[in-house]
Amino acid sequence: MYQLTIGHLYPDLLNLYGDRGNIAALTNRLLWRGMDAKVVSFELQDDIDFSKLDIVFLGGGSDREQQLVCNRLLEQKDAFTAYVEDGGVTLAVCGGYQLLGRYYQLKEETIPGLSILDITTEAGEGRLIGNVVLSTSLDGRAFQVAGFENHGGRTHIGDHLPFGKVAAGFGNNGEDGTEGVLYKNTIGTYLHGPLLPKNPEVADFLLSRALERKYGARVVLPLLDDTLELEAKGYIVDRFASKA
Ligand code: GLN
Repeated sequence: MYQLTIGHLYPDLLNLYGDRGNIAALTNRLLWRGMDAKVVSFELQDDIDFSKLDIVFLGGGSDREQQLVCNRLLEQKDAFTAYVEDGGVTLAVCGGYQLLGRYYQLKEETIPGLSILDITTEAGEGRLIGNVVLSTSLDGRAFQVAGFENHGGRTHIGDHLPFGKVAAGFGNNGEDGTEGVLYKNTIGTYLHGPLLPKNPEVADFLLSRALERKYGARVVLPLLDDTLELEAKGYIVDRFASKA
């Protein structure tokens, strides 16, 4: 039986806006297909053996929580970097996304990041808040993504590929029309919400890549009835962006 192990990093510190719903979506989409899911939650004092994980999830947090997490992750930076470089699947939301970058510059201090992604974040005037619609393409399949953002940081992604193009909302910085980053099998994004329950295509992208990495061949994911999920998303897309 196919089984994936999902590492949930610091759910007690990084869990804004129900980000843990992403774990429920990943788990259920495996179970509904007769596959197995194991979730391992890590607290700050725990050592993380990335070699035992198939998917890593980091949610969003306040600046203070982000700082705590960052200090701890810097001690495990080499193992986390090696995991991402090896195609380990990672979903990092908002504060979790920012800390994969080089730094998060606040007014009075700079939180050093893991430099896994070559991106930088600076706190700007005011927060970028609201519903977001993106156009994206994963594994050659183009679709729209709906979500919600609330961040003070403005992120610049340099030469990285974005996760999507902003059709409604602010995205990485409110200026260049990009949202998030897609690097190997890692998605960094500002989209809370949570993201995966109403964007099943993204959930299945992460699951396929994780299964492929673990089992060495493309595992065909049986189709699920996503009528409800896609209706929920369609409602947001119709409300905030015209369909591209
Ligand atoms: N503290 C970060 C910011 O405001 C991230 C916040 C979040 O995760 N929502 O930019």
